[in-house]
Amino acid sequence: MAIAHNLGFPRVGAERALKRLLEDYWAGNARRDELLAGGRRLRQRHWELQRDAGLALLPVGDFAWYDQVLNHSVLLGAIPERFRTDGAREAGLDTYFRMARGRAPSGADTRACEMTKWFDTNYHYIVPEFEPEQTFRPDGKWLFDEVEEARTVSSGIKPALIGPLSYLWLGKTPGAEFDRLELLDALLLAYAGILARLAELGADWVQMDEPILALDLDESWRCAFERAYRELHKKGPQLLLATYFGGLLDNLETALALPVQGLHLDRVRGDDPMEPILKACGTERILSLGVIDGRNVWRSDLETLRTQLQPIQDRLGDRLWIAPSCSLLHVPMDAETETELDPELRSWLAFAVQKIRETAVLARALSGEDSPDLRRELEAGAVAATARRTSPRTRQSEVRQRTDGIDAAMSERSSSYTERARLQRERLQLPMFPTTTIGSFPQTSDIRTLRRRRRRGEIDETTYRAGLRKEIANAVRVQEKLGLDVLVHGEAERNDMVEYFGELMEGFAFTRNGWVQSYGSRCVKPPIIYGDVSRPEPMTVEWIRCAQELTGKPVKGMLTGPVTILCWSFPRDDLDRRDVCRQIALALRDEVRDLERTGARIIQIDEPAFREGLPLRRRDWAQYLDWAVECFRLSSCGVKDDTQIHTHMCYSEFNDIIEAIARMDADVITIESARSDMELLEVFRSFEYPNEIGPGVYDIHSPRVPETEEMLRLLHKAAERISPERLWVNPDCGLKTRGWTEVHAALANMVQAAAQLRRDREKSRSPD
Ligand code: GLN
Ligand code: ZN
Repeated sequence: MAIAHNLGFPRVGAERALKRLLEDYWAGNARRDELLAGGRRLRQRHWELQRDAGLALLPVGDFAWYDQVLNHSVLLGAIPERFRTDGAREAGLDTYFRMARGRAPSGADTRACEMTKWFDTNYHYIVPEFEPEQTFRPDGKWLFDEVEEARTVSSGIKPALIGPLSYLWLGKTPGAEFDRLELLDALLLAYAGILARLAELGADWVQMDEPILALDLDESWRCAFERAYRELHKKGPQLLLATYFGGLLDNLETALALPVQGLHLDRVRGDDPMEPILKACGTERILSLGVIDGRNVWRSDLETLRTQLQPIQDRLGDRLWIAPSCSLLHVPMDAETETELDPELRSWLAFAVQKIRETAVLARALSGEDSPDLRRELEAGAVAATARRTSPRTRQSEVRQRTDGIDAAMSERSSSYTERARLQRERLQLPMFPTTTIGSFPQTSDIRTLRRRRRRGEIDETTYRAGLRKEIANAVRVQEKLGLDVLVHGEAERNDMVEYFGELMEGFAFTRNGWVQSYGSRCVKPPIIYGDVSRPEPMTVEWIRCAQELTGKPVKGMLTGPVTILCWSFPRDDLDRRDVCRQIALALRDEVRDLERTGARIIQIDEPAFREGLPLRRRDWAQYLDWAVECFRLSSCGVKDDTQIHTHMCYSEFNDIIEAIARMDADVITIESARSDMELLEVFRSFEYPNEIGPGVYDIHSPRVPETEEMLRLLHKAAERISPERLWVNPDCGLKTRGWTEVHAALANMVQAAAQLRRDREKSRSPD
């Protein structure tokens, strides 16, 4: 019979329990043993849920205090030098947190490791740092302890590791140019040790995640796969090589040739030909098919899946495993708790708890079980799928007409950047190296209480709005006092930069508890796009106007861009992503124009997820970039020449898409770069970014207050590559996760750094 298993479960827990645990510990309000006990409870609960749903193998090692890649750096003993101040090699919990966020209850503040996006998801991992003579000293205690813990829940467990090649690939070699593959032998030794120990602990199977097999790999990496798995398979448990986020395409042959006992494929995103795969499975190998979508929230049509999979089941028998396509880290916990959604909409959804159930039901059906119960579940899935596809709630004819009528002129500004810049300079009268922030200010408990009380109906709309106006007034006052040049209203009205807009547009549903981890303790609640998108009325105008009335300095209109709204939502799967994005772009275009009409001189349209939407394979890039750029321009190009359009991007690699970013033709882009010491600037050696740019001068993820000198150094570095007329001064990203004390201090230093830069420049120009 087919076996049901899972690659990973969301670790934040119902109601974001993990978030609270962590933040209490970081703030010094919880002891270490309280944190540890809380983590144990969460793991226990999640294993029980999976066991009770009917999974035969439970994933172990998918829990992390901050991030699974960071877990591996600790597991493998790859701790960068600057965190080993006490000379100790092994990392305690606080070293772990310092690597993640620069600060922990104990130990000195230290520059945190870089953080970047996990493949094409909105999850962020902590980038491993390798030195040329990198050694690995495996310290697997946390993993082995979790294996023991899981054993108390079920005998069917499967430790899950990130495989050696993906781990290496995800890392960087800061300050030293060398081929990471040189470290492979040392790394394999570490893995072999861990596998041997897992075997001793009685693990029959170990899942080795090698998602990079869904990427373009060159020959050296493909060969490394062979070498690595030939080595690893000698030791210990049977290996299930897990790939996900796409098909294997040109890596298929490599994957099939590896000496592993099992292979997991993402069958939602990939459609590699089944025949060679089945052939390669021969008579011994396990084939795990990820057919339940681990990246989206729609309920599966189990009946159809069963029909499709039956022939494979007939051939493989109990060597067929059924699973979600990837770890369920990327979907929320439980759709059943979303009682505020109308029942029809809710019946279309499946979150992690439902998906493990779907996985188990499908496996049972494939195994020939036939009970009324089972039949009912299969049928319900089919009914929900059909209902969603045919529901009139998902279509608005005006929206369709409008997207059909899009013409090329709509995504062009009237004049070129050079002409616009002249007009904008005249109108805005900004100093050289203008200072600004990215949009949000600290989301204090007052602000959150205000929003919560409104949501619960404890205060009326007037009281709520008055409260927000007070927050805005405060933000404006602070910025004026600091001497910033371009102000923001602070985004106090926004719980989240996408959800806020989703709630105000048609076609979106939003959840009460649909949290998905973004990084560390930070979770987001992606809206669900189930139907055509439109904007019934202005969404931000009131707040921007309110801020602008309080100051003579320009206040930026602040919107989330169409690509980011799409990427950070769960999209419908019955319409092309490009078409969904165009609908959103048109809705935003109306908002941009309304902002302009109320007097906004600068409008920022954030696109932090722009790169995230990039297909994993290069051959698909151009097509995506074309429509993504077009959508940004559709939303931004409806304004007059002297209205300045800004965009903002962060936490991804920009260098290889910089030309597309330039094609977006925003007048100004603010872009995260401090955390990687302005590595971004490298690209400007070969490509001159044509418009204005503000490379972030300080990392906002760390509570550490950067010194003026430090920021000045980065600015001087930037000024070497970016012409001074086009250089802006700003932090890496929004400040909503910080406290006011740090923000005050950091921004005061930043304003000083800009002033110093202006003076330095004057000095270097005056010939004395
Ligand atoms: N304007 C947003 C903010 O400042 C941008 C956030 C982001 O880039 N993720 O919060
Ligand atoms: Zn950002």
